[in-house]
Amino acid sequence: MEEKEIREQFKLRLSGVEDGTYCYSANCDKAFFELAEISDVRDGKLDLRIEMHKTEKLVSVDCQFKGFVIAPCDRCLLPVTLPMDFEQRLIVKLVPTVEEGENDDDDDIWVLDENTYELDLFQFVYESIFLALPMQILHPDDENGKSTCDPAVLAKLQELSKKENDQETDPRWDALKNLKLD
Ligand SMILES: [Zn+2]
Repeated sequence: MEEKEIREQFKLRLSGVEDGTYCYSANCDKAFFELAEISDVRDGKLDLRIEMHKTEKLVSVDCQFKGFVIAPCDRCLLPVTLPMDFEQRLIVKLVPTVEEGENDDDDDIWVLDENTYELDLFQFVYESIFLALPMQILHPDDENGKSTCDPAVLAKLQELSKKENDQETDPRWDALKNLKLD
């Protein structure tokens, strides 16, 4: 998909749209993630179901995300596939005049001019995915409790931590041990 095409699917027309409930679908693929640059996520496939409920003064948007994203493992840097299944709601208040600073504090409630032509959800979608990412991205353990990270990296890490442990020994303690041996 082209950038314009990607961005277009997150734009919901408001102007001239009658009150009611509307359903849309969109998807986030590799091209979306390259454009959005969400942390280290560079690939994935998420299907979005967007339900917009519009009244004169209020628009609520419920987004359902389903699919997966691919990000590098924090431990071994090989890609991890992270399943995603979550919902996020956005409330938009439509007002005659938007006061300065009105949109500053609460991200889930937007205040927009009632003559706004369309609602652009690109940033909302981007932030929702970012917030849904786990704190630590790691390859899961297998059924035996063994890490499924790249074995070469695991071996290297083990070697490094062993070296670190060796270095951490207090030299005075070593001296003491030598004394005893003598
Ligand atoms: Zn890993």
